[in-house]
Amino acid sequence: MILGPVADGFLRYVFKVMPAKEICKKQLKITLDPEHAKCPICLNVWHDVVTAAPCLHNFCNGCFSEWLKRSQERRASVICPQCRSVVQFVGRNHFLHGIEEDILQSDSSLRRSDEELVLLDSCSTIKSPLVVSRGKNMSHKRARAQSAEGSGRDLSCPQCDREYGGFQCNERTVHLQCQACSGMMPSRSNAPVPQHCLGCDRAFCGAYWHAMGAAGSDVYPVCNQETLKPIAAHSLTRLPFLAHEKNRHEQDITDKCIRQMGRPLQDVISEWIRKMSNREVDRTRLLLNHSETITSQTYVCRDCYDKLVSFLLYWFRITLPKHCLPQEAQQREDCWYGYACRTQHHNEEHARKRNHVCRPSRGARTP
Ligand SMILES: [Zn+2]
Ligand SMILES: [Zn+2]
Ligand SMILES: [Zn+2]
Ligand SMILES: [Zn+2]
Ligand SMILES: [Zn+2]
Ligand SMILES: [Zn+2]
Repeated sequence: MILGPVADGFLRYVFKVMPAKEICKKQLKITLDPEHAKCPICLNVWHDVVTAAPCLHNFCNGCFSEWLKRSQERRASVICPQCRSVVQFVGRNHFLHGIEEDILQSDSSLRRSDEELVLLDSCSTIKSPLVVSRGKNMSHKRARAQSAEGSGRDLSCPQCDREYGGFQCNERTVHLQCQACSGMMPSRSNAPVPQHCLGCDRAFCGAYWHAMGAAGSDVYPVCNQETLKPIAAHSLTRLPFLAHEKNRHEQDITDKCIRQMGRPLQDVISEWIRKMSNREVDRTRLLLNHSETITSQTYVCRDCYDKLVSFLLYWFRITLPKHCLPQEAQQREDCWYGYACRTQHHNEEHARKRNHVCRPSRGARTP
């Protein structure tokens, strides 16, 4: 990425017409001025950038979180620190996050010290999009009626209308939107149970409303408990679709192995979750956020549980002696490209003839 002054605008993209050969590489030159990538609160290049809506100004997650906290303590509307308009939503901006990293890579003098970043991260509370205000001068009922007509989305939650578990929302309560049912719940720093999946940082309301003893209605969508619960409380009766890089032949082999052992699938999974909790499993390939801190008591969503199980089934297969495999799978040689092989996805015969539950030994560095 090339950095240089831009005449106007926040980002100006310079799309160059490239010769056909280069278009294949999908390369794009972007010129931008780091001055336009600075947080108006701390005046540094954004760190974990968040965007406020509707004005679309950008801040460090930690800086804006502190601003939000102070506004709530004063019981005042959340005003954008840059343009003074009322903030209604705020969320992480993944696209700008990429730009933030490119800028710091291009000019390391703009980088802050590790100590500063640790401090900033410790203040960051915006994990998934927050609904900050319902817009000004709007009563709960009117806001609900309007949003129901307008977007079909309801901006109130059960606790906006009545108290559950000793808590009730007020006009300034910041809300999270559940990623499963689209319902709202108050964002609480002292919630008795997690409101986010640790594996993907998305918000889910199942555990929260269950703990509050609140049920849904036609006015408030509310998930059942299944959408967010401790790893140990999840269960599966079939292999996840994602297992073994979605290679159905390998899934069948794993299925047969488990049946030959006469064990229920969940029994095998639970055994491997225990091994993982005891730190007997290398977590390098576990593609979940915070993967190093995950234990059997960590709250995760269904998708993340499936990812975790797929990861554990890889280890189940890798450590299984060859003679435990079904007859037809015992003689197969390992594919050089292992789990990373692309041919396994479009060539049935190759998928059947070679073992793909193994590390790549060619075309990739072997760990
Ligand atoms: Zn900042
Ligand atoms: Zn603004
Ligand atoms: Zn509420
Ligand atoms: Zn998740
Ligand atoms: Zn929900
Ligand atoms: Zn292969």
